[in-house]
Amino acid sequence: MTGSASGIGAAVVSALRADGRDVVGVDLRDAEVCADLSTADGRRAAVDGVLGLAGELDGLVVCAGLGPHVPDPRQIIEVNYRGAVEVLDGLFPALRGAAVAVSSSALTMTKWADNPISRGEEAAALAEAGEYAGHLAYSWSKNALTVAVRRRVAEWGAAGVRLNTVAPGAVDTPLLQAGLESRFGDAIRSYQAPIPRRGRPEEIASLIRYLLGPDAGYIHGAQFMIDGGSDALMRPTEF
Ligand code: NAD
Repeated sequence: MTGSASGIGAAVVSALRADGRDVVGVDLRDAEVCADLSTADGRRAAVDGVLGLAGELDGLVVCAGLGPHVPDPRQIIEVNYRGAVEVLDGLFPALRGAAVAVSSSALTMTKWADNPISRGEEAAALAEAGEYAGHLAYSWSKNALTVAVRRRVAEWGAAGVRLNTVAPGAVDTPLLQAGLESRFGDAIRSYQAPIPRRGRPEEIASLIRYLLGPDAGYIHGAQFMIDGGSDALMRPTEF
């Protein structure tokens, strides 16, 4: 479980431990494996650290992430995209059950054809993005993560390992709180969901717990918007 120390990740850890599962958390601090997923070395250390503690894994959740407000937008892509995909790939050989990647409803702000990550051109695109760089990096990173998951379904399915994404809307966590306190606060506050409140970390954890378990045995390559209905409200004809 990456991003285990806070927010959605911490809620997933609690839910799984309540089920009697042994969980290896990966985070910058307060985790069984402390590693920095923003660097290639840190991602390797995370994979090696997990494998050192658990030879085989029933499940994997890649949840660590940075919000659009962080000062260096390159870090957003490193953690949210590469930090998720390289941990998925690194732990795939040890996986026996299912994995879930935490994407975001913000992924729909980008089409894959327009996503500079698809062409390896994100550095140049960020240099031109100006004040919106953080928002764009966030959307590109989550869009690319969902595409990476969908592109792995054949190989993972053949190996008997299910892989899905959840795409939350606004969820009350330290990440969202930091965004509300940033210059993007008004934009976040204007985000309306038909269910007129923010999500709770426990509600996202509940879906992830289900997707990891045997009742979800035929769910593979799927993406679950868990956003209080916002996506359906804003894009009723696109799904
Ligand atoms: P959070 O800040 O509470 O938790 C994120 C965790 O990721 C933290 O424990 C943090 O230390 C860890 N992390 C960040 N950078 C890291 C790094 N370099 N190496 C290792 N760990 C690192 O945030 P959250 O809201 O619980 O976010 C969890 C995931 O959910 C993120 O991927 C986020 O993009 C996604 N998400 C959140 C929301 C929301 O509204 N909160 C909405 C959609 C998607």
